[in-house]
Formats: sequence, C-alpha cells, structure tokens
Amino acid sequence: MSETLDQTESMSTPRSVVAFMGGTFDPLHFGHLRMARELKQAIAAGQFRLVPCGDPYHKAHPVSPASQRVKMLELALANDAELDLDTRELKRDGPTYSYDTLVSLRQELGADASLIMVMGMDSFLSLPKWHNWQKLTELGHILVVHRPGSEQALSEPLQSWYANCKATQLEQLRSSSHGLVFDLRMTMLDISATQIRGLLSEGQSPQYLLPESVLEYINQTGLYCSQPD
Ligand code: ATP
Repeated sequence: MSETLDQTESMSTPRSVVAFMGGTFDPLHFGHLRMARELKQAIAAGQFRLVPCGDPYHKAHPVSPASQRVKMLELALANDAELDLDTRELKRDGPTYSYDTLVSLRQELGADASLIMVMGMDSFLSLPKWHNWQKLTELGHILVVHRPGSEQALSEPLQSWYANCKATQLEQLRSSSHGLVFDLRMTMLDISATQIRGLLSEGQSPQYLLPESVLEYINQTGLYCSQPD
C-alpha cells in the first residue's frame, strides 16, 4: 500500500537519484570508471559517487594507505564532471561497514531520495558476511552488476532474501527510495586492481589499464613495486 502511494507521489515530484560504488580502489582503474559512467547514464542518476573504504576487513591482501588511494582517485576525477569522490568512510574509525555508509548517506540526502548502492556480483555473493546485510535495503537499493553469461548460484540465505526484494526493471529503483535489488548484466572491462598490482610488482607496465595521471603517481611513488599479492 505504502509502495503504491510512494510511486504516485514520484510522478509529480521528481526524486533525486544518487548512486554510489564502494571499493578499495587500490588502484582505481578503467574498469571502475567505465562501469560508473555507463551506470550513471543507465540509471539517469543525478550523482554517481566513488566511495573508497578506510579499513576493509574482508580483503585478503594488504591495502595501500587511504591517503594514497584517495590521491589516485582525485587525480583520475580531476577533469571528470560526471563522477564524484566521497571520502566519508575515511572519516570513521574502525572497520568500514557499508551499512554505516548507507545510514550516513540517507541522513545527508533525506528520506525521499533514491539511493542506489552499486556492487559487482563478486561482492553480492559475499553479502551474507556483511554487517547488518539484511537491513541494507531498509536504507537504499542495491544494483548488482555482472558479466553476461557469468551466472552463479546464490547461497540459501541470500537467495530467499533476494526473492523478497527483487526488482524486475531498473526504472523501479529510480521511482522509489529504497528496498529493491536489481540484477544488471553488462559488459565489463576485464581489468582488476590485482592484475595491475601484479604487473607492477613484476616490473611490467599497466599502461592503458588505468588513467595516465594515476600511472604517473604510481611511478613517482614506487607504489606496488615490491608488493605481490
Ligand atoms: P582487487 O583486484 O584488489 O580485488 P578490484 O579491481 O576488484 O580490486 P575494488 O576496489 O575491489 O576493485 O572494486 C570496487 C568495485 O568495483 C566492486 O564492486 C567491484 O565488483 C567493481 N569492479 C572491479 N573491477 C571492475 C571492472 N573491471 N568492471 C566493473 N566493475 C569492477
């Protein structure tokens, strides 16, 4: 009932739509940037934010200091009017929880905004390990992105939870503030930060996998040169 009222209201007052993607961005690469740009357009979001994490508790490899990861994001986004950097997770102490990020964004944007958390299928599959994972959709929507043809079985708790909040059209995420999960298949560039760190640690160049300004910074600082995963 309240969902119907919600959607009727949105016809008269356009709702602001803010999407964001968290990550370690160690380093940021063209896979991240291309996906963010394509999604911003597909969702017709007013803003698309990249949100670097502070202290990720679920990454296996050592993570570069936040100041260096942020510097690379700043360099890459310096001339990009479409994508924004949001450093709120670095201002919190302790582990980074996406739930807390959603609470904080909801406070900033107000109850009516459509808030969309974007994640790759790899992250979605591990969702049951996340803090307060079943409450994430009380604060925003989740947009799961994966490669066409890369179907993977969801674990039991995730599958039953997903069945209750599954959206059938992307448009539903724009026209409501929270509560839905949409599964979007799109072509992703086959680039990962692991691959870039690996190339650098072997003395090879990752040129054309990431912005030139970011590569210059890596070369100047010697980041990743002796850091294989
Ligand atoms: P790592 O290799 O260190 O695990 P990563 O390249 O996967 O890093 P993250 O910072 O962990 O980068 O990813 C942030 C978000 O970007 C995640 O939701 C992830 O699924 C997504 N992502 C990573 N690589 C790509 C890509 N090539 N195309 C689209 N999305 C990507």
